[in-house]
Amino acid sequence: MKNLGDVPSRRLLIECERCRRCGSYSLERLVARHGKNRPLRDFLGLMRSRCAERPCTAQLLVPLELDLDQAVMPTNSFDIDIWTARGSREMSVGRVWHLEIASAAFDRAVSLWPHSIITVRDRWRAVRTHNREEAERRERQEKLLKNLFPDRSHAKPGES
Ligand SMILES: [Zn+2]
Repeated sequence: MKNLGDVPSRRLLIECERCRRCGSYSLERLVARHGKNRPLRDFLGLMRSRCAERPCTAQLLVPLELDLDQAVMPTNSFDIDIWTARGSREMSVGRVWHLEIASAAFDRAVSLWPHSIITVRDRWRAVRTHNREEAERRERQEKLLKNLFPDRSHAKPGES
């Protein structure tokens, strides 16, 4: 990347920490004004010469071009949660609008809390469950206890 015409982006950012200047320039317009063969070093020199601070520390940055269609799915969110053995939610890890990122958060939560019951849910449907057998076993045990002792169904261990 030597000249303005080589920048693989639609915009070019210019930031200076000293003067707190931050600009975003259309590459099309820069090329129209300065030519595609204008060396980036020259262009940066020009920008630095306009800075109120000397010496100017302006840098050229090429922004990441995000594919927003792929990155954002605002209608579909995924909740990552940690559950107690008794089936109540112990902690909300987070809500993420992308399944792959939710899955990555789930994997990290599993490595941090390997003995906990952890889920990724699309509303109420569990997409992934860690310690599923444990979750199901506790659920069955809970139902059995409720049937045996209906009046204790809301009691927590150690109460009553
Ligand atoms: Zn500056």
